[in-house]
Amino acid sequence: MAYDFDLYVIGAGSGGVRSARFAAGFGAKVAVAESRYLGGTCVNVGCVPKKLLVYGAHFAEDFEQSAGFGWSLGEADFDWATLIANKDCEINRLNGIYRNLLLNSGVTLHEGHARLIDPHQVEVNGQRYTARHILIATGGWPQIPDIPGREHAISSNEAFFLKELPKRILVVGGGYIAVEFAGIFHGLGADTKLLYRGELFLRGFDGAVRKHLQEELTKRGLDLQFNADIERIEKQADGSLKVTLKDGRELATDCVFYATGRRPMLDNLGLENTGVKLDKRGFIEVDEQYQSAEPSILAIGDVIGRVQLTPVALAEGMAVARRLFKPEQYRPVDYNMIPTAVFSLPNIGTVGLTEEQAREAGHNVQIFESRFRPMKLTLTECQERTLMKLVVDAETDKVLGCHMVGPDAGEIVQGLAIALKAGATKRDFDETIGVHPTAAEEFVTMRTPVAG
Ligand code: FAD
Ligand code: NDP
Repeated sequence: MAYDFDLYVIGAGSGGVRSARFAAGFGAKVAVAESRYLGGTCVNVGCVPKKLLVYGAHFAEDFEQSAGFGWSLGEADFDWATLIANKDCEINRLNGIYRNLLLNSGVTLHEGHARLIDPHQVEVNGQRYTARHILIATGGWPQIPDIPGREHAISSNEAFFLKELPKRILVVGGGYIAVEFAGIFHGLGADTKLLYRGELFLRGFDGAVRKHLQEELTKRGLDLQFNADIERIEKQADGSLKVTLKDGRELATDCVFYATGRRPMLDNLGLENTGVKLDKRGFIEVDEQYQSAEPSILAIGDVIGRVQLTPVALAEGMAVARRLFKPEQYRPVDYNMIPTAVFSLPNIGTVGLTEEQAREAGHNVQIFESRFRPMKLTLTECQERTLMKLVVDAETDKVLGCHMVGPDAGEIVQGLAIALKAGATKRDFDETIGVHPTAAEEFVTMRTPVAG
């Protein structure tokens, strides 16, 4: 049978665009459908605008610390509307770049919602298209628990477009988004509380990192409330919100921001017209080569719920394009040693195993840790401390994990990830000459393991 396209991609986000462009580059006839915004979550309501807001929030401490270096500024004033307008302008520019990237690589773009009609057919804007392969790259969507008053809460989708900076805000959750946005709102001057249902936020990160970040955020005056869960939210006559916690406490605020995970975006996708199956958590089930239970349909990125990070979606998109149209260049995605950063203030940067994971996997571990006051702060009143930690296998000397909390941790960990991927030992770290004076050099100068 002759198909309209070799590959039809649903979703022009991180994974979809990468896959479509590379497939077209390999000579395939490719179309992409996008219902909302080119570039997907990352460009429009994720990584990019988030990082711009983090930069914005960081100025508060820069201004404060500048006094130690002899600067005197008038009273700093912040205008949320300007930050959001400038952010929107930059995102518009990026949307245009994504459009050109697709069109210049010969991909046909259909702007509209795509629905599967059968295993080889998609409908967009009333038109039907057939394809040999269909790739679902529809990403995820914020998930807010079903509590009374949830309609008064916002998610990250809305946070990027608030008309005003709330005077008081409650951020709910203890994952990446909650920690990052609590830092943004606190840095920009909102009275911010972070509410997390468990003992300590950032479950799954190294224990020392979680504790260190807790201490640093508390020092900065961020109100961290653990073992706290919302029972209901009620709107008051003056427009403010009354939040009742499960332990009976009541909190008054102007905004409740839920960051409690993301579900796969499968709305009105027509999966019922195909043999695609979902896993226990509701994400699309695929094999190692991203093929779903329906042989002509593949899926990548957040919608398969493996690792919800842009570089992972990109790698999966690339793997699919190669597998289908350049099999001689196909390489499976390696999910080991994926570096990641939480853009809290200060940042977390991490790659490899946490101490807890290494012990659980049966390694006889040696831990190296360094805590210090960054040089930049020595002329200031700021008491922030940086944490660096290496998890090493005592038998093989291999570095199993690197963890950092401190300025530019995300930047520093990228290089360390290459070393770990290449199988670096602690001795390799020790024999590497430092770059002086930097914070990063501490990673190659830790000599004595922590006792215990
Ligand atoms: P997406 O980028 O979500 O793209 C899916 C696209 O499909 C969307 O454009 C959507 O409109 C479209 N779509 C959905 N259904 C249909 C349909 N039926 N028809 C047509 N189009 C459809 N990751 C990082 O690595 N670093 C970060 O700093 C980071 N920060 C983040 C901050 C926030 C607030 C959030 C929410 C996420 C962040 N992420 C970050 C995660 C990252 O954004 C995602 O992992 C990544 O975007 C996933 O890419 P994707 O291609 O799977 O899906
Ligand atoms: P996460 O899965 O990271 O965190 C969700 C948080 O919400 C957890 O602390 C979880 O608690 C809590 N939670 C879940 N359900 C409930 C509930 N019903 N009531 C109260 N709390 C609840 O999700 P995020 O929304 O923060 O982010 C989604 C994903 O996006 C991230 O996992 C990450 O992959 C990606 N991302 C990456 C970023 C980066 O690279 N810098 C930045 C932002 C997002 P518990 O731990 O107890 O389960």
